[in-house]
Amino acid sequence: MGREDHQERPQLPGEEPAKTTARAHEIVCARCGAGITHERESIAVSGQHVHQFVNPSGMLFRIRCFGAAPGVAAVGESSAFFSWFPGHAWRAVVCAACQTHLGWRFEGDSTFHGLIAERIASGEV
Ligand SMILES: [Zn+2]
Repeated sequence: MGREDHQERPQLPGEEPAKTTARAHEIVCARCGAGITHERESIAVSGQHVHQFVNPSGMLFRIRCFGAAPGVAAVGESSAFFSWFPGHAWRAVVCAACQTHLGWRFEGDSTFHGLIAERIASGEV
């Protein structure tokens, strides 16, 4: 054993350290396994971490909210149309590695990511 306990402290976006050995608590793309974000980025929005929404096409999405998500790439235009979080414009985000649609980035008073629960997985296998 002899593992040191690292202090949990907030990290600046873009200051993510190089790949660590332990992938525990990492959130990965369910399709390709690329690192997306980390459990410590889990946030509650309007008091809840998990939100369920139905989009205008009638599709149900269960999303989990995270602050930073270094493993996604935003695609397309920002839109304020039908925003699930009032006051926040959204952009679709995909896995930067395999381009799978993973959710949305919401930008407003705060910026956060809503990632589709079924499309992400814990890296701890
Ligand atoms: Zn992927």
